Amino acid sequence: MSVRRAALLTAACLLALPALAEQQAPLVVVLDPGHGGRWPHDGAHGGGRGLHEKVIALQVAQKTKERLEAQGATVILTRDADEDIPLADRVRIANEAGADVFLSIHCNSMEKREDRKVTRGVETYFLSPDPTDAEARMLAQLENGGPDAVPLPRANDAVTGILNDLALGQARNDSAALAQIVQRHMVKGTRAQSRGVRQAPFLVLSGTRMPSVLVEIGFISHPREGRMLSRDRYQRRVAQALAGGVRDFAEQVLSRRLVAQARPPASEKKEAPVVSGAGLVASPARTR
Ligand SMILES: [Zn+2]
Repeated sequence: MSVRRAALLTAACLLALPALAEQQAPLVVVLDPGHGGRWPHDGAHGGGRGLHEKVIALQVAQKTKERLEAQGATVILTRDADEDIPLADRVRIANEAGADVFLSIHCNSMEKREDRKVTRGVETYFLSPDPTDAEARMLAQLENGGPDAVPLPRANDAVTGILNDLALGQARNDSAALAQIVQRHMVKGTRAQSRGVRQAPFLVLSGTRMPSVLVEIGFISHPREGRMLSRDRYQRRVAQALAGGVRDFAEQVLSRRLVAQARPPASEKKEAPVVSGAGLVASPARTR
């Protein structure tokens, strides 16, 4: 094929995108503000300054929702008040919404006085049975509600199990990519120290059927970072970074499948996710 012919074909494909995009459903994002309600589900506390993880997580989630909606996405919060929502319900909300992306928002905290002074930064987790290290394992245990937490029920029907595993396999790969993109945006947008992309067996990520990550947006136990996290302006920066990460993920990962699927057979075109100028839209080929 000549270069000119290839260029013409590419142009034709690009021109076809807006028409295709109009048929697509908007990108559905489920934001999950961590914790809520009373002890033992109220999350981390920021020492003597009255900072609560559950409060900051909700404020950041609400701001992120605004940002994403401005980009054209449909956004659902797993909680919009100081409520104790069981982890299994958060998963169910995301699955029933047919979400394209699931983002669980948390704040980190250190126990020991000497650690509280020095430990700060942002880390993004995706689900894995093998934690990155002992710290990741402990964090997952904490976020899961302690060592006595009840695991999510598994599908007992063999066929359902296989189908679930297939859907989850794709979602797992995408989760790693989503974690990388979100972490990059967080570090660039907030200039916080990067603690990297990590993996751990988080219950809230274990049953979701879409790309899912858990973002620890900072340490409320750190004197400066904790104070920043409680501020409206900084929360807006975090929200902008999270929304930017989701947008890039939709454009770079979800829409890439459109390019693969935009080729024949034509009947599958409707399954493809796409991002258009009109806003974030997606309808990926996965089980809703
Ligand atoms: Zn948490």
